[in-house]
Amino acid sequence: MLGQVKVGYLKCDECGGYYELQDGESIDDFDGCECGGKYKEINSHIKEDESKSDSISLENEKINWKYCIIGAALVVVLALVLKMFEYGAFIGMFIPGIIVGYLVNNGYKNGAKNGIITGIIGGFILGILQITFDPILSPLLIHGLSVIFVFALFTAVFSAILDAVGGIIGALIRDKI
Ligand SMILES: [Zn+2]
Repeated sequence: MLGQVKVGYLKCDECGGYYELQDGESIDDFDGCECGGKYKEINSHIKEDESKSDSISLENEKINWKYCIIGAALVVVLALVLKMFEYGAFIGMFIPGIIVGYLVNNGYKNGAKNGIITGIIGGFILGILQITFDPILSPLLIHGLSVIFVFALFTAVFSAILDAVGGIIGALIRDKI
């Protein structure tokens, strides 16, 4: 929907002439019409406000943080639960992207963007948990705590790619329904 703004008019009660009020002007700024008649204010005309419609279309590009945080939490939970199956961790990282892209419901580009944010947050947390608690990975910690950051970063990038694809798929599913 486009933004709308009311445009005020002054109408002369003598000659019937109109004057369109400019931004910031009010009836109090005028003594009266040129003909000597008095002005009356009327708001009959509605004009589309372009600056408002621009801000709405910008809003469409935004990241939906609520869905991204929910999706990120799902990345962590699903990946940890499904990792007992072969490729389960990848599937667990991938599915939340589809869900977020579907929920955001704003085209495949926006689905990808929100998927990337979901994957980065979820993947980073997942990476920290994995390297800290996984008995196979945790011995790597003897190389220093920076290993946690590097591992989390890799997981975040990997998850971001999966969820970007998932976000696109989710948005396309939404479009089809
Ligand atoms: Zn007049």
